[in-house]
Amino acid sequence: MKYQNIKKYLSKNKIAIIIISCLIINIIIFIIYIIKLNIPKPEFKEIKKQVNFNHQIAYFKPKKTIIKNINPSIISDKTIYLTFDDGPSYLTETILDILKEENVPATFFVTSRQIDKYADVVKRMHEENHTIALHTSTHNYSYIYSSDENYFNDLNTIRNEVYNITGVKSRIIRLPGGSSNTISRKYNKGIVTRITTKLNENDFYYFDWNIDSEDASGKVSKECIYQNVTNRIHSGTNIVLMHDSSTKTTTVEALRDIIKYSKNNGYTFAKITKKTPQIHHHINN
Ligand SMILES: [Zn+2]
Repeated sequence: MKYQNIKKYLSKNKIAIIIISCLIINIIIFIIYIIKLNIPKPEFKEIKKQVNFNHQIAYFKPKKTIIKNINPSIISDKTIYLTFDDGPSYLTETILDILKEENVPATFFVTSRQIDKYADVVKRMHEENHTIALHTSTHNYSYIYSSDENYFNDLNTIRNEVYNITGVKSRIIRLPGGSSNTISRKYNKGIVTRITTKLNENDFYYFDWNIDSEDASGKVSKECIYQNVTNRIHSGTNIVLMHDSSTKTTTVEALRDIIKYSKNNGYTFAKITKKTPQIHHHINN
């Protein structure tokens, strides 16, 4: 059939035109599908934030961090400060075992949630020369961020509990959600600005982080946590955010490999003290 004849035939038969069009579209879709199948997928997917409980609700990825107390001799070092929030839990003891075997100090920002149950573990943190720092007693955003008084009462509670177990009155603080959290706006405008000012004025030292393991983002694989930390550490001060609350099993699984990679690449580990360069996020409330 010649071209002219086909044209004539098609103009007479609209159904045939529709069928041929559909056929062509299907062939294109099939070709795209085949091409997509052959594109290699990245080994680690981007982690999607999941809203599971309070800590994730307030999670805010800081755009920039400010480093206070910069000592040029420290900034040129490759120092890692491993920090664990939200414990103690049944996982904390395994973390302490790994840290002991690897001879690495760390910092634990504890809450009251299970502190009575794991008082011996907190004692062990202290005996094994880690820093026990304060993350608030309740970790309850609607309470701690509703008034300055509530925040400092809550802080005082966890401070006294740690003192009763260890004999240490800690002055190292981490705000739930970090100082960049925006959820506090919901409860009290400007409260984080006021709290951090008062902490600074009263010889307390608050620390955010500049390396996020992203283990707060729901159930994250140990490979992802490992990649998030090892790809992000750099010369200078590295304050690594991790968690030792009871769901964070993959954090524990990733820990030894993170330590080994860091040691093999010339990093040293330290615990947070008053003299540690303070990593501060931009305050949004
Ligand atoms: Zn927390």
